[in-house]
Amino acid sequence: MFYGYRYYDPTFILLIPAMIFAFYAQTKISTTFNKFLRVRNTNGYTGYEVARRILDANGLNNVPIEMVRGNLTDHYDPRNRVLRLSYNVYNGNSLASAGVAAHECGHAIQHSENYAPLMLRNAIAPIASFGSQAAWFLILIALLLNMMELFTLGIYFFSAAVLFQIVTLPVEYNASKRAIIALEDYGLVDRGEIYGAKKVLSAAALTYVAATVTAVLQLLRLLIIRGRRD
Ligand SMILES: [Zn+2]
Repeated sequence: MFYGYRYYDPTFILLIPAMIFAFYAQTKISTTFNKFLRVRNTNGYTGYEVARRILDANGLNNVPIEMVRGNLTDHYDPRNRVLRLSYNVYNGNSLASAGVAAHECGHAIQHSENYAPLMLRNAIAPIASFGSQAAWFLILIALLLNMMELFTLGIYFFSAAVLFQIVTLPVEYNASKRAIIALEDYGLVDRGEIYGAKKVLSAAALTYVAATVTAVLQLLRLLIIRGRRD
């Protein structure tokens, strides 16, 4: 029964547009990021300097900035209240570096202000992380044993992961909005060059949209499979 589901499941078609979209979004962020990594911010600030200025201007002098391995691994760690920037962002004085550094500061400021969507996202995070793993395990067992109650439970778990993806969207868009305003207001990027930072952040946002679309379509697919079994 499980093998039949696996190989002849027509709902798989639902995932094809999601996969194309996800591939497009990944390509878009890497090409846009690499393009603007080569465009110098004429004000000359490095990503580190941009982040330090924004954090300090928002009373976050106590948030340290560290360097982290990898490419596009930049993040704000709310547990330790640390901003981590990748090598190219930390040291680079490009429009991409400025945009990404300012975006991560946006998350640090959201955290300090207890920005509601971020609080909600952090509250859901552990359930979503457990749920996304438990869901597939439950669904696999449900199909093997033909226990549809277990399948439904798997759908509930997966829904937590979908909700997490949805709540991530306003958090990410808001961080980018704060980033652009800060870059302009503190004179960190020339007004004529701000488009470069905007393009990088829009491309990054698209990857979150793609992840959300994929999650929603997966959920829809599970609901269709569940409906057929009744
Ligand atoms: Zn972000």
